[in-house]
Amino acid sequence: MSNEHAIYVRGLRKSYDGFEAVKGIDFEVQPGEVFGLLGPNGAGKTTTVEILEGLRPRSAGEVKVLEFDPQLQTRRLKDRIGVALQATNLPDKITVREAMDLFAAFYTRTVSGEMLLKRLQLWDKKDAAYATLSGGQQQRLALALALINDPQLLFLDEPTTGLDPQVRLEIRDLIQELRAEKRTILITTHYIEEAERLCDRVAIIDAGQIIAIGSPRELAGEKRHPIRNRSATQPARPCGRPTAVAGSYSHYRKRRPSSSHDQLLPSGAHAR
Ligand code: ATP
Repeated sequence: MSNEHAIYVRGLRKSYDGFEAVKGIDFEVQPGEVFGLLGPNGAGKTTTVEILEGLRPRSAGEVKVLEFDPQLQTRRLKDRIGVALQATNLPDKITVREAMDLFAAFYTRTVSGEMLLKRLQLWDKKDAAYATLSGGQQQRLALALALINDPQLLFLDEPTTGLDPQVRLEIRDLIQELRAEKRTILITTHYIEEAERLCDRVAIIDAGQIIAIGSPRELAGEKRHPIRNRSATQPARPCGRPTAVAGSYSHYRKRRPSSSHDQLLPSGAHAR
């Protein structure tokens, strides 16, 4: 039964023209939990998350997100979730306030855009064009847009990748605040330290399969799992710059923006 789960995934498979990108994965996320997906390029993270968001059809398996089937109840699901992409596809000239108003118009329930912009320290930038924002400001705007419908469930795609250490800490603090508000969060990240700091549980996905799942502490202590990359399971360094998961994960590249914001809006259900 999936009633008690925010996200429930059983036997999920996804093939692209005969190539199986996701090979029958199982996991669930509890309400209020912060759940991390870690894995190298091409592991199947984006495919999995986009299926959960209702952006891609699955080939097989059972998926429930907030009790909805993302493939069949896409609009209702999109009304209830928030998605912050790593790279946005907002037009360069749109201002911060215009972007907030645009997004607010698509949802049946919204919170005050002014309140969100103040909370995310973007109020001073409300009339600034998107292209003039710093990377950290663009990421904070992505979070503000993801929160405009007051979602119970948030998908955060590599929310701190490419940001400088100070901004990364700010974004992490914001995520901690969202967690304190009992929102459920699914986060993809390349940083094992980030997963350890933010996530209640983490799934490591590789070549379309989940190769380890558990709390960061359990994974750090795991000796028997057949994880090819041992450094993926080592504890965080006590200080210094966060390390992208190394070894076989060291070739992580910055994720391509495979989703665009218009696809995430309730009225923009495009399944690829
Ligand atoms: P990254 O961190 O690089 O974004 P990922 O873990 O998110 O990687 P996916 O983007 O889900 O991985 O890709 C999983 C596999 O599926 C890869 O081999 C990728 O080339 C392939 N793939 C993804 N999208 C498509 C598509 N539309 N058509 C064909 N193959 C695809």
